[in-house]
Amino acid sequence: MFPFFSYLNLLLFLCVALFLSRPCFPARIIPESVTVITSEPEKTETHNATWHDFSKFLHAERGSHVSGMSELKKYFHRFGYLSLPETTPNFTDTFDSQFESALLRYQKRLGLPVTGKLDSQTISAIVAPRCGVSDTAMHGFHATRRYAYFNGKPRWTRGGSPMTLTYAFSPYDIIERVNAAEIRAVFGRAFARWAAVIPVSFVETAEYGRADITIGFYLGDHGDGEPFDGVLGVLAHAFSPQNGRFHLDAAETWSVDFDREESKVAVDLESVATHEIGHVLGLGHSSVKEAVMYPSLSPRRKKVDLKIDDVAGVQALYGSNPNFTFSSLLQSQNSLNAALQLETGFFTWTTLALFLIFLCA
Ligand SMILES: [Zn+2]
Ligand SMILES: [Zn+2]
Repeated sequence: MFPFFSYLNLLLFLCVALFLSRPCFPARIIPESVTVITSEPEKTETHNATWHDFSKFLHAERGSHVSGMSELKKYFHRFGYLSLPETTPNFTDTFDSQFESALLRYQKRLGLPVTGKLDSQTISAIVAPRCGVSDTAMHGFHATRRYAYFNGKPRWTRGGSPMTLTYAFSPYDIIERVNAAEIRAVFGRAFARWAAVIPVSFVETAEYGRADITIGFYLGDHGDGEPFDGVLGVLAHAFSPQNGRFHLDAAETWSVDFDREESKVAVDLESVATHEIGHVLGLGHSSVKEAVMYPSLSPRRKKVDLKIDDVAGVQALYGSNPNFTFSSLLQSQNSLNAALQLETGFFTWTTLALFLIFLCA
């Protein structure tokens, strides 16, 4: 009996040691957190002042008549999924067939389960903070890619190879929360990510009036027909080539370091900058959730690395940077996947260990 108990003790010790030694992985490989919406809308764990109210439409389906649904229809109209009604001046509060079709298009476009119902995943996507650019861009033609362009596939056509585009910050439309040097550093890194994959270089200039790309922070209605909406909701928008206007909502809690900025509604400036530069270059929204060009971004989330979908999309417009290789990108993403698999494997192993502990007890 004694050796058997020793063996059990040893096994127990190993299980506990293994459990305690579970490795820590860098935050960026943790899969995107999903906002969980329960059947009671008030328990929705979002902090979105703008669209939070839409959580009350959870489980509404075709034929439902829910007060305020016209606002949700306006949302679908704003982002390019629903045209204005032909017979009545305003949207109705009825979940009709047109709305169902719009919902199906939305779910397909956002890479959600295509159910035609306002299920929890769909409501979570709707209330998530997002980019103000409409999703009605033209899709790419590649069968396995899900990147998109603006209609007409516009791109910059400055001379020279590599092409050089200048950018400048508005001297007036600024924020106090983050200092100018940090903002410049963030944008420098964001532009560098795109420059690494296409033969285009970006140079900051102090001559705001002459820059190709003009960047500024604005509050509410700022004169381009696309007013910002306060905290969360729409975070930023940018115009297609060769316009170059790049606007950020000054009301956001912009952050360059989540260790220093503890707000629950903090938004990572670098992630949004990288996304909007994609628009400035001519990319539309992607339906690949991990892609930088996916339309929404949760608060306190950082998503700055270009994915294969982003790179393939922008290279189809500008060609490849001669120093760029897909293998290096694949390599970095494979190591990311391997780490995820390792983590999944480790969960299985930990579960087994806990099960053994349970049996031993
Ligand atoms: Zn966008
Ligand atoms: Zn604007």
